[in-house]
Amino acid sequence: MNRYSRQSALTQIGDEGQKKIASARVAIVGLGALGSVSAQLCARAGIGFLKLIDRDIVEKTNLQRQVLFTESDANEGRAKSTASKDHLQTINSEIKIEAVLEDLRGENIAELLRDVDAVLDGTDNFETRYLINDFAVKNKIPYIYGGAIETRSMVYSVLPDGRPCLRCLFPQAPTADSAQTCDRSGILASASHWTAALQFTQLVRYLTQGAASIEPVLIQQDVWSEEVKRIQAAEFAAERCEGCRNGIFAALHSQSGTQTLKLCGRNAVQIQPEPGQGIISWNSLSERWKDRGQVLVGTDFARATFEHYELTLFKNGRVIIKGTEDPALARSLYARWVGC
Ligand SMILES: [Zn+2]
Repeated sequence: MNRYSRQSALTQIGDEGQKKIASARVAIVGLGALGSVSAQLCARAGIGFLKLIDRDIVEKTNLQRQVLFTESDANEGRAKSTASKDHLQTINSEIKIEAVLEDLRGENIAELLRDVDAVLDGTDNFETRYLINDFAVKNKIPYIYGGAIETRSMVYSVLPDGRPCLRCLFPQAPTADSAQTCDRSGILASASHWTAALQFTQLVRYLTQGAASIEPVLIQQDVWSEEVKRIQAAEFAAERCEGCRNGIFAALHSQSGTQTLKLCGRNAVQIQPEPGQGIISWNSLSERWKDRGQVLVGTDFARATFEHYELTLFKNGRVIIKGTEDPALARSLYARWVGC
């Protein structure tokens, strides 16, 4: 009896379906409330290759809903990507998993997603979602959107069969999503679990039975009130977006120079310097920081607390500065503590 026998016993899957699952190459972008659940489901189901992309490290407040992490991951401040990979390989050592500690951006998306044939959404912001959406539509690969806040969920599969994409559905980030994030408003773990479970299910349906088996429907559900809504995408999308109509994908154009990004709801700003620009070597910087304040040096990052601010520096020069949402202040703190 093989380890997937209970799954392949499903008439919808069978041995043929299991082979398709085993040969699938899937990226999960964001390993938080949604991504940690869908990653575990994918690993247990035997998805042959998983690419786990996340820009952040594990914190104690994650443990309430992010199923892959432990207290020691949070205490050590491990990267979510590598911690996920390590835990998942103990669950299934027969699949291949690649951990990527990176912020998915216009400049690196083509490189990072070049070797996958489906993307599951585990992100917490519409900027990254639009980016993945555009890449997926342009390259005709499925992108399974999911979002969860408080007790509510939304799921929609952008599949390469001409159906409306996420931009067609939401030309602007939905207010519920942009105004609230998990840090500011709450989230019940069962809402994110439900969302990720449905995303995983749609992925398996797509892999085994193709796009035609999944209706172009936006699904909204509230685990608290138990209300479920199914909204036809064609009715919801008033008109098709530029990408779908004319093949213009603005988000995919790379930007040059140092990029500053306010991390909404987290009281933090991320600074991504241009590759090779403006930072001294990682080793000497973490050495320099050691003398100045409270410093934690992990395998992939160094974190220091100076005055009211916490700086987390990753090896590629990316920094997350907590304690401000002001990009100008963040840039000046960056120049003071990171810049050469
Ligand atoms: Zn579109």
